Amino acid sequence: MNIHEYQAKAVLREFGAPLSKGKPAFTPDEAVAAANELGGSLWVVKSQIHAGGRGKGRFKEASAGEKGGVRLARSIDEVKSFAKEMLGATLVTVQTGPAGKQVNRLYIEEGAAIDKEFYLSALVDRVTARVAFVLSTEGGVNIEDVAHHTPEKIHSFSIDPATGAMPHHGRAAARALGLTGDLAKQTEKLIAQLYGAFIAKDMAMLEINPLIVTAQGQLKVLDAKVSFDDNSLYRHPDIVALRDESEEDAKEIEASKHELNYITLDGSIGCMVNGAGLAMATMDIIKLYGESPANFLDVGGGASKDRVTAAFKIITADPHVKGILINIFGGIMKCDVIAEGVIAAVKEVGLQVPLVVRLEGTNVELGKKIIRESGLNVISADDLDDAAQKIVKAVQAARKGAA
Ligand code: GDP
Ligand code: MG
Repeated sequence: MNIHEYQAKAVLREFGAPLSKGKPAFTPDEAVAAANELGGSLWVVKSQIHAGGRGKGRFKEASAGEKGGVRLARSIDEVKSFAKEMLGATLVTVQTGPAGKQVNRLYIEEGAAIDKEFYLSALVDRVTARVAFVLSTEGGVNIEDVAHHTPEKIHSFSIDPATGAMPHHGRAAARALGLTGDLAKQTEKLIAQLYGAFIAKDMAMLEINPLIVTAQGQLKVLDAKVSFDDNSLYRHPDIVALRDESEEDAKEIEASKHELNYITLDGSIGCMVNGAGLAMATMDIIKLYGESPANFLDVGGGASKDRVTAAFKIITADPHVKGILINIFGGIMKCDVIAEGVIAAVKEVGLQVPLVVRLEGTNVELGKKIIRESGLNVISADDLDDAAQKIVKAVQAARKGAA
């Protein structure tokens, strides 16, 4: 699960991390009130979307101006006009894809005078099974480019969970950033704070780009991007409360309510499969025969009729879906349960596109019989190869017919 920058900063603040003062705003008036409350003479107006690269991003609307999604305002009037331009406009960054994301929230922050910009992130390193920190003096810019062109400028160390963050980790971080004296001490403290936050909140990733040294010689977290391990959310109701569903795919939200493992993709063939491995193989074979999957969907081993119905509805609600392939190997899951779920769903939502069903395994004969006798226009298939070819052919024929 992802959260907004201002929410991530609030979480890090709980652990004592050094941050500028700031306030979220949902309207231009709130932005003005926030700036007045913060005081000073320089504010940063920051678009809050679940994507990075906002500073260099551009809005789709000409009315939002030529400047990016993070802007320095030197007066309250500027805060207001930036807020007016950004709210409701669609920001396109390297991470949003060409469709961009609508800005519905802003974060108004005290402007900092920047002396140096660094990169810092923490993540779970699967190789060492530890939390690893990644640091670079080349902050504020695209870290992937730094890693590609100048890998020697990327430093990394991992932390033994038995000891937690130790002073030597802090010293390693300070060395990586070329910091000495008081700034090295601040770095030591920061690493301990960030590691504490990472563990306590079950983060999956924490990225601070940039981490800055201010003109006053203070280390400061200027940007923060955090994602959490979904499997741990049950023990973090405070984090779950930060969820912004408008940033997520509506179909994926609906799927998660039914405990379906569903991910939207951009192809034309909707897939309903049991088992992640079989789902991957189904997607591959659709590609092999010349079309693309519209989704990944694993209905799970022991799905009920209701869950199958819900899954079918999610697939058919997607206007990109031009055909559906149901591929079930009945192990724990019984083929007749799938058949009944599919028929119930088709009766409820109708069937506008070709549907190929391939069933195999437990109660397969019963499942096939239920589908046969349903009177529905379902193409049945014997094996995966056959099923993929049939659905691709049906979709392509329908496309030709429409053209
Ligand atoms: P991102 O573009 O989505 O990564 O958003 P950031 O929060 O990293 O902001 C983009 C850039 O705006 C930063 O890299 C800074 O260069 C600049 N910026 C952000 N906050 C401040 C600030 O308080 N003062 C100054 N001078 N620049 C800032
Ligand atoms: Mg940034």
